[in-house]
Amino acid sequence: MNRILVLGAGVVGMTTAYALAKRGLDVSVVDAGSGPAEAGASFGNGAQLSYFYTDAMASPSLAMNIHKYLLGLDPAFRVSLSLSPAFLAWGLKFLANSTQRAFERNTTEILELALRSRPGIAELSSKLNFDYSKSGKITLFANEDSLRKAQDLSKLKNRYGAEQVVLTREQALEREPALAHYGHTFVGAIWSPHDDAGDSNLFSKSLRVLLERDYGVQFLFNTKIEDVKRRGNQLGAIATAKEEIQCSRAVICLGACAPSIAKAAGIKLPIWPVQGYSLTVPALDAAPRASITDTARKTVFCRIGDRLRVAGLADIGPSNSQFKEERFRTLLATARGIFPKAGNYEGDLNPWTGFRPVTPNSKPLVGDTKIKGLYLNCGHGSLGWTLSMATAGAVADLIASS
Ligand SMILES: Cc1cc2nc3c(=O)[nH]c(=O)nc-3n(C[C@H](O)[C@H](O)[C@H](O)COP(=O)(O)OP(=O)(O)OC[C@H]3O[C@@H](n4cnc5c(N)ncnc54)[C@H](O)[C@@H]3O)c2cc1C
Repeated sequence: MNRILVLGAGVVGMTTAYALAKRGLDVSVVDAGSGPAEAGASFGNGAQLSYFYTDAMASPSLAMNIHKYLLGLDPAFRVSLSLSPAFLAWGLKFLANSTQRAFERNTTEILELALRSRPGIAELSSKLNFDYSKSGKITLFANEDSLRKAQDLSKLKNRYGAEQVVLTREQALEREPALAHYGHTFVGAIWSPHDDAGDSNLFSKSLRVLLERDYGVQFLFNTKIEDVKRRGNQLGAIATAKEEIQCSRAVICLGACAPSIAKAAGIKLPIWPVQGYSLTVPALDAAPRASITDTARKTVFCRIGDRLRVAGLADIGPSNSQFKEERFRTLLATARGIFPKAGNYEGDLNPWTGFRPVTPNSKPLVGDTKIKGLYLNCGHGSLGWTLSMATAGAVADLIASS
């Protein structure tokens, strides 16, 4: 009864298990998938540890262009309306967070979380194998207006501890010669020297080995969670498709699936799934060493070991888990069109889709709930891996002290 159940073995669940186990607590992890970070967003994401590019998703520019997203005029970003009350409630809160003031506040608060996460991931990088590299990140801007806005935001972020440098096009080419193969113009860039890269699926797998070996953490895979059982106002058990597991403490780390399980316990979570896609191919010599984010196309290119990961697209709409061939082809066309020599796009593309668990303000939900013993660590949006060690530490401190 004293053990703590971590619900979900994505990168957030795995780091939560680590933070709890390091505090001397007895931990078991439950997941429907066949292994860590197999079935959710942590499998094929953009592979960036983006400590300084922490921009909230809701922004003035998103609000200004929403008509384009609704009409399908932007290949990278799509919004389809749903009449579900949960979507409408989330959407209104999301739009309320799109003012300049809210955007800056949310972005700097996420930056603070990212900076708290960084030492923990650095510590694990020496213990785990996950194709980690100190890549740095170059964020590209297609026009003067977007570059000027990014420059202003960068100044603000640097006041909060970021270290970003504005680069002219020529300086960006000097910093990353592979950009010479970049087939379209960009007017300038922001260089984040301390952003890193790696594979969050490998990270989670390697962390599992450490958790079993050094901390005796137990894993229950292929175990679908169906319900949260209360005993009065206290957590009583977690019902799974296989058995009912008695427990008095559990942490919901279920990514985009968190709302449906929380709802079973009478808790509404403002998280909406925002669908993205990725492909992973062998990297060629002309692949960039730095990770690259193309803001106009909302696409990232990241070298992980001898592979190139290309990830992007953001589709907000009715939640369903279908892989849409047409959307994947858009990503592939972007990759081929703008970085044709970076990867071998002729063989297996390892196509993947996943859902960012996005809150209206892009900040994760971390803390306790109205049910005693039931905690949250979910809603990490576009930066779940990057923020994971900070939120894991915060929820573990709360649990350890209660
Ligand atoms: C295209 C794309 C690119 C991204 N790029 C980056 C990036 O470069 N850097 C970054 O930091 N972040 C990135 N993200 C975001 C990041 O991937 C997510 O924020 C993060 O993976 C969320 O982790 P999680 O553990 O909360 O959720 P998940 O990884 O989704 O894990 C949830 C787990 O819960 C399990 N689960 C769900 N329902 C049940 C159930 N009923 N019973 C049992 N188990 C269940 C699933 O099997 C899964 O293992 C990206 C996301 C996308 C989609």
